[in-house]
Amino acid sequence: MAKIKKIIKTIKVDVALCNGCRACEMICSAFHAEPKYSSNNPERARIRVIRDPLRDVYLPVYAGEYAEAECMGREKYVLDGREYGECDFCRASCPSRDLFKEPDSGLPLKCDMCEDDPPQEEPLCVKWCINDALIYEEREEEVEEEVELEEMETALKVLLDKYGLQKLTDTVSRLSQKD
Ligand code: SF4
Ligand code: SF4
Repeated sequence: MAKIKKIIKTIKVDVALCNGCRACEMICSAFHAEPKYSSNNPERARIRVIRDPLRDVYLPVYAGEYAEAECMGREKYVLDGREYGECDFCRASCPSRDLFKEPDSGLPLKCDMCEDDPPQEEPLCVKWCINDALIYEEREEEVEEEVELEEMETALKVLLDKYGLQKLTDTVSRLSQKD
């Protein structure tokens, strides 16, 4: 496989600085609304804050890859005396929980680093986190070229698994004949 140079974008999370204000969820959902900034529903955010105020637990988690099946591993984590749940650090949109699913369609959500045209200076959740709990970093790496599933392809795959090819093609064909 050919090697290519790629800018790797990452957001580091400093859990100790997060106070659970949820500004990151708000701005992410507003930015991804259709049209942009027309609504604000944290259920649609691609970052979610796991909150347990009584135990002082605030953990921002980014939406990652879609997982078709729930995993077998279940772990508990204790960090700085705070206990985190089985799935708290997991980034997947998976069948065993409602996190990182578009609330109306159930389609998986994934952080796209606020891709925009023209590009954003830095991801909006980073910009809006006044506590600096989210730290944006870029680095160049040589990686193997790979075909990544685009958001629409992932969504189609979910619909295909759910409804089957025949129903999906019938629906697309019916919709394309409208207007
Ligand atoms: S905006 Fe920052 S401090 Fe507020 S919940 Fe998100 S990560 Fe935590
Ligand atoms: S980087 Fe952008 S898309 Fe990803 S969680 Fe933050 S605001 Fe949402």
